Amino acid sequence: MPKSILIVEDEKDLVTTLEYNLKREGYQTQAALTGEQALESAFRDPQPDLVLLDLMLPGISGVEVCRRLRQNSRTDKLPVLMLTARGEEIDKVVGFEVGADDYVVKPFKVRELLLRVRAILRRCEPTQVTPNETTEFGMIRIDHSGHRVWIEDEEITLTAMEFRMLGAFLNQRGKVLSREHLLNDVWGMNAFVVQTRTVDAHVKRLRVKLGSAGNYIETIRGVGYRFRGQPEASEAA
Ligand code: CA
Repeated sequence: MPKSILIVEDEKDLVTTLEYNLKREGYQTQAALTGEQALESAFRDPQPDLVLLDLMLPGISGVEVCRRLRQNSRTDKLPVLMLTARGEEIDKVVGFEVGADDYVVKPFKVRELLLRVRAILRRCEPTQVTPNETTEFGMIRIDHSGHRVWIEDEEITLTAMEFRMLGAFLNQRGKVLSREHLLNDVWGMNAFVVQTRTVDAHVKRLRVKLGSAGNYIETIRGVGYRFRGQPEASEAA
């Protein structure tokens, strides 16, 4: 099944260029010229596999569209690649407040955009684990095939990227991971545009979502992060 991409952009020329190039890569496309149309298309079946979302739209802004997608359980895991202008608050876009999976800065090379689309879709493919495999670590329980996470029996909702980041942390628990290492693990080899401060924004967001289990992720000043080797802190009792 070809993957379907929802292009949300009010510049018609850019929509045409994107449609042409995405179709040439074998994707199906649909276009929305406003935020309202975007939300309508994102909720309609069959849902798109990825949303290319321009930040500056008439009416509902790209930021608001992304926020609403994240707030609804039908769309909260839908990958969003944000198209931004240089100087826009990229940390905010990719970070906790909005929650796009990634972004490209306009003007961008189509080739670069295609690489990032491919990278995001690849990340979102189910990882090769045995069906029904679950991991438990302290308060955290993960259902890998179902992409579900519980903290002390309460389910939390993670984006595809946060899920992947949590997996990377758990697989390498007890080890200090540099931001560059996390970039590579979570964003993949095409992470040339993602900056290390973006890693910080995502870790911060993941921590908040993990609630009391957020303490499992420790900041190693000047280096990166470490997921605890044991659920219990090694504090003196
Ligand atoms: Ca625009």
